[in-house]
Amino acid sequence: MERFQHYIDGGFHDGGESFESIDPATGAAWAVMPAATEDDVNRAVDAADRAFAAPEWAGLTATARGRLLWKLADLVAANAERLARLETRDTGKILRETMGQTAYAAEYYRYYAGLADKIEGAHLPVDKPDMQVWTRREPIGVVAAIVPWNSQLFLSSVKIAPALAAGCTVVLKASEDGPAPMLEFARLVDEAGIPPGVVNIVTGFGAACGQTLTAHPKVARVAFTGGPETARHVVRNTAENLAHVTLELGGKSPVVVFDDVDPDNVANAVMAGIFGGAGQSCVAGSRLLVHADMKDRLLDVLKERAEKIVIGAPDAEATQIGPLATRAQLDRIEEVVAKSLEQGARLVTGGARPEGLEAEWYYQPTILDCSDPATASVRTELFGPVLSVLTFRTEEEAVRLANDTPYGLAAGVFTNRLARAHRVVAAIRAGVVWVNTYRTISPIVPFGGFGRSGLGREAGAEAMLDYTRPKAVWMNT
Ligand code: NAD
Repeated sequence: MERFQHYIDGGFHDGGESFESIDPATGAAWAVMPAATEDDVNRAVDAADRAFAAPEWAGLTATARGRLLWKLADLVAANAERLARLETRDTGKILRETMGQTAYAAEYYRYYAGLADKIEGAHLPVDKPDMQVWTRREPIGVVAAIVPWNSQLFLSSVKIAPALAAGCTVVLKASEDGPAPMLEFARLVDEAGIPPGVVNIVTGFGAACGQTLTAHPKVARVAFTGGPETARHVVRNTAENLAHVTLELGGKSPVVVFDDVDPDNVANAVMAGIFGGAGQSCVAGSRLLVHADMKDRLLDVLKERAEKIVIGAPDAEATQIGPLATRAQLDRIEEVVAKSLEQGARLVTGGARPEGLEAEWYYQPTILDCSDPATASVRTELFGPVLSVLTFRTEEEAVRLANDTPYGLAAGVFTNRLARAHRVVAAIRAGVVWVNTYRTISPIVPFGGFGRSGLGREAGAEAMLDYTRPKAVWMNT
């Protein structure tokens, strides 16, 4: 079995404890991972705290920090296949997707490399002739970054890159489910010549490792991606030290399809929105809201295409859907689908595990026609390949249904009528709205949720400022 280690203070170490990681494609253990104890986490935070003030890091110019980030981006790009294969092995996400996300991670490092020396203070023209006043933007301190198991390499880049660009230091806790790509990424941090302690990477279980990290008095900023329940723990943990927190949480994103579009064109975006990553994506377009006159035509196309999706080993070229990442995921999906059928949902396609595959953790692309918005699959974030369908007759009804969720991460709107698109975009409560497309992202564009989908934004230039704090300087001249 392969063995992985933590990266703390520029060195590789076994954790105080360890656990076996399961390959979701086979259900068998394939690697031994370190599990951070309280001591390991404390060592990592202490290292980050020392590195924050050390001349090797604090003494670098912003341009020099940018160069280091650019080097890291080059290394991520050069090692993309190795990183992607590890992510595929450890999470079951198909190779085409992990390759794509690794390329994105490199882009995010490049974007923030370019922004490092564009963090500017301001001169403030106060109404006092004998005073000069200006602001300095200073790095906030030690950042605790916590990521979930889906897309760890990518989700961590959105935290590590702006934090380093701003001059912070980082302790990243990789998810206990599928940490291999992050522990391998640590080698690239080392190779890039980033000074010891500036980036520390550990993994371990939420209760022990995540709790200690987010409650640590030396942590100034927590950047968390995960589920809403864990987010509440994180907020409680940070309350004692009043650490700054951003939360990227779940979603139940609506895809609204009006009756003026061609169902053939829309179907691919709807399918990619829900079945990409086997639905294990925070922005999965899991609620299809379709105009009643368009429903049958669109469902016919979706059913036909869903049934042609190739389910199989995540590293096989032809595979379009791989296994779910964990057994718990499968159990939850089966339970909610069964409950939805009991509540009166109609099964359009899927609804079962496919036969003839090596492991049990696969689930068919599933479409449920739900006439009742209270159906379990309409309300619950499933994090699986399950599309719940509702219909509407008017624009007002479409908006009401779209907003009928405590979440507000993303939404899709499909219409060819310009004025309608503008009205619906304005009325939908979500942090990202895609019009006539779905799930496109860029490092330049802010990302984050409304309501229970989160707090704060990642990506874009503004998000980097969250890793700084302004210091106002008054000088009597
Ligand atoms: P999770 O909340 O169970 O775990 C996320 C991370 O938090 C893991 O690393 C876990 O070990 C850690 N953790 C657990 N308990 C903790 C505690 N008490 N203190 C600190 N950390 C703790 O989420 P998950 O099941 O790994 O991931 C799925 C969730 O993540 C879904 O809700 C999904 O929508 C969300 N997600 C959001 C985004 C986004 O950008 N908005 C992206 C991907 C996933």
